[in-house]
Amino acid sequence: MNRVKRGYYQFAGPISSAALAAALAAGAGTAAFIAFVYANAQAQLAPLESITRWLELAVTPVMALLAAAATGATLHAFKVRSRVAMTLAVLGATAGAIAISWQMLEALHTEQVGVAGVVIDGAWLMLLQASSALIVVAAALAVTNVALDTPLCPYCKSWCARHDRVARIEALPARHARALVEAGDWPSLRRLGRPRGSRYLRFDIAECSVCGQTRALSVTLAGRLGRRTPVVRNLLINGDTRRTIESL
Ligand SMILES: [Zn+2]
Repeated sequence: MNRVKRGYYQFAGPISSAALAAALAAGAGTAAFIAFVYANAQAQLAPLESITRWLELAVTPVMALLAAAATGATLHAFKVRSRVAMTLAVLGATAGAIAISWQMLEALHTEQVGVAGVVIDGAWLMLLQASSALIVVAAALAVTNVALDTPLCPYCKSWCARHDRVARIEALPARHARALVEAGDWPSLRRLGRPRGSRYLRFDIAECSVCGQTRALSVTLAGRLGRRTPVVRNLLINGDTRRTIESL
């Protein structure tokens, strides 16, 4: 088990306090900027009540998602690929932006929100705010997951470039496919041939385009209705294996 695990990409990249400080500053700056734009828009559009009501609904998710994106992008620029650091920073920025936007809405005397003539207030407003906050947090975490999927080359500290769908073959149960891929049993995989239905195994490779020393394979079982089951995530491979996979 351990021997196989070592074949997977695990490098997280260093976490510096400068990167964390810059990331949180980027998140806070973005939230403050949106708050400024929003307050101005509310003042300008005050006579158009239907538009300002929609803005009230939109401001929290927009602010939180952009703050989370700015935080994540800054960590990415600082080459931080630590799941813990990225998740905590993005969640911090999201929660901070949600809190700021709620404070701001309260300060603007918005005890009630209405859409199309229906006023939402009291417990319903709290429920609406809580559910939009949950959706925003889930979206921020999903973005973090995508950002962390790309390996950072430990040799030259560059982000790897993704090459999606370098090969597609007939589907196998995920556990069986994982055993074949981890064992490097390419002849057995090749014998499966081209996909004959809507289910197939999809091979994606991330490769360092600067020094070429890091190459990681991800295999996904794609099913009906866009269902995707991860088979392996970032298994380190060499150039020969890459060529073999491309010719599957
Ligand atoms: Zn490299």
